Amino acid sequence: MAPQDERDPNCIFCRIVAKEIPAKIVYEDDAVLVFHDIRPQAEVHLLAIPKRHIPSTKELTENDVTLIGQVMVAATKAALALGLTEGWRTIINTGAIGRQEVMHLHVHILGGSKPLPAMIKW
Ligand code: AMP
Ligand code: ZN
Repeated sequence: MAPQDERDPNCIFCRIVAKEIPAKIVYEDDAVLVFHDIRPQAEVHLLAIPKRHIPSTKELTENDVTLIGQVMVAATKAALALGLTEGWRTIINTGAIGRQEVMHLHVHILGGSKPLPAMIKW
């Protein structure tokens, strides 16, 4: 299957999009799904994904500009709907160095009632 195909049957997030695997969905439209991360790393931890299977930001092209914008707008809607009015953090992990585990592009949305820890160190 080509990386830009609609759906990868072996991909866990494609299976969530297809409703084959349950998820706590907080926002959905034609192009985007936002749901709670199964292993939250903050008081609120959501994942915003394009419904179309794109493995990572490494595969993005000009054809994806609108879709990525839709993902970011959906992430904002979901964050505000869950009450994160004072802010949140978005993270996108890419590839092995980024420690990406699920190879379906996703935006982490992290927030809660108090400020998050500082950004990463190395
Ligand atoms: P990453 O390391 O950026 O690829 O993050 C993958 C995220 O997906 C992790 O935070 C996992 O906890 C989360 N995750 C994996 N499987 C599921 C699932 N079935 N439902 C919700 N979140 C999941
Ligand atoms: Zn997928």
